[in-house]
Amino acid sequence: MSALSPAEVKNSSTNKGNKGDFLIDLENQYGANNYHPLNVVLEKGEGVWVYDVEGKKYLDCLSAYSAVNQGHCNPRLLQKLVDQASKLTLTSRAFRNDQLGPFCKEICELTGYEMVLPMNSGAEAVETAIKAARKWAYNVKNVPDNKAEIITCHNNFHGRTISIISFSSEPSYQKGFGPFTPGFTSVEYGSIEKIEAAMNDNTAAVLIEPIQGEGGVVVPPEGYLKKLSSICQEKNILLIADEIQTGLGRTGKLLACQHEEVTPDVVILGKALSGGFYPVSAVLASKEVLGVFSPGEHGSTFGGNPLGMSLAREALKILVEEKLIENAAELGEYFLEGLRKIETSCSYIECIRGKGLMIGVVLTPEAKGARRFCEALQKEGILCKETHENVIRFAPPLVITKTEIDWALDKISQVMKTL
Ligand SMILES: *Cc1c(COP(=O)(O)O)cnc(C)c1O
Repeated sequence: MSALSPAEVKNSSTNKGNKGDFLIDLENQYGANNYHPLNVVLEKGEGVWVYDVEGKKYLDCLSAYSAVNQGHCNPRLLQKLVDQASKLTLTSRAFRNDQLGPFCKEICELTGYEMVLPMNSGAEAVETAIKAARKWAYNVKNVPDNKAEIITCHNNFHGRTISIISFSSEPSYQKGFGPFTPGFTSVEYGSIEKIEAAMNDNTAAVLIEPIQGEGGVVVPPEGYLKKLSSICQEKNILLIADEIQTGLGRTGKLLACQHEEVTPDVVILGKALSGGFYPVSAVLASKEVLGVFSPGEHGSTFGGNPLGMSLAREALKILVEEKLIENAAELGEYFLEGLRKIETSCSYIECIRGKGLMIGVVLTPEAKGARRFCEALQKEGILCKETHENVIRFAPPLVITKTEIDWALDKISQVMKTL
């Protein structure tokens, strides 16, 4: 193996076009081809802005799928990272560390839950919630052994493990990866009748996104979550909200479920829980639910590590102290209004939906896919990613300002009118 010297990188840029192209070639040659990214190679970020290797500046309207709600390289998080990394990074849970306890207390007080279980990736937290729900079904609800069922929704996204893709309705997530994990049923998103019809005595839980993110920013009908919550309560079924993308201020509330004053039995967080510095996820619930775990029954080497916990504590403080949740509510509304104005003079837009700074612009079939719009926006200095072929998602970091949104609206308007 030979590392590339700076001179080599520089040389290659004269030989093979620019430095970005050279780095893209390296990825394509040596990296597994499991993504279809825009061809932009980023090397620096600050707040809502990112810079590519040629120095071109872009407004980030994806925020790493809402992982950098606090803005790129947030200085407070950077300081925490440096401080904590120079003290202690990992103990494993074989020993205790001085960050875990305070994290548990602070996140429980902020969200109103009794207990928390920290993990790393979002998918791991979803798996943890599923395990907790199944064990709760056997220990508390008295469902017969191995009969617990979990209801999920079509068009969901909860991660990429074998069990999680077992209940995906996206063919490309499943094809070639079977056999799948049993115990899941899937119903139409947004329909109370369908979800109620799928419930039975063995139903342990309903697992749901309050707004489907990867599914194309799909907002369920008003009152859906509220009704679902009361049916679950009535039938002694756990309501598990996957707020990995919608949570932590993205939609203008700390949790998206709060828009309907719904308190799910279990909440799953990830992504912005560490502001993009380090993977931290968590499952929040009552003692009745998370209390089902005894020593040795579940775990993770990195889960609850002091570096992650220190970052998560600060990431939560930033959201509250810098009023990022309020900013998302106010500027989300402003962004949406601006987009609606563009909609009136653009025949390619079918509808615009979302809450707070989680916005999806749905294009008509005549628009021939969202990808070409994302590529045109890239040229204008705005980075966003199509979701579900025909939806452009706008989800900038929550530190965005009105001036920056005005700048973006101007560019978006230009692209929507000229393409
Ligand atoms: C991103 C995401 C996940 C998976 O998180 P990873 O950290 O990628 O494993 C799960 N659920 C939702 C709603 C997400 O947006």
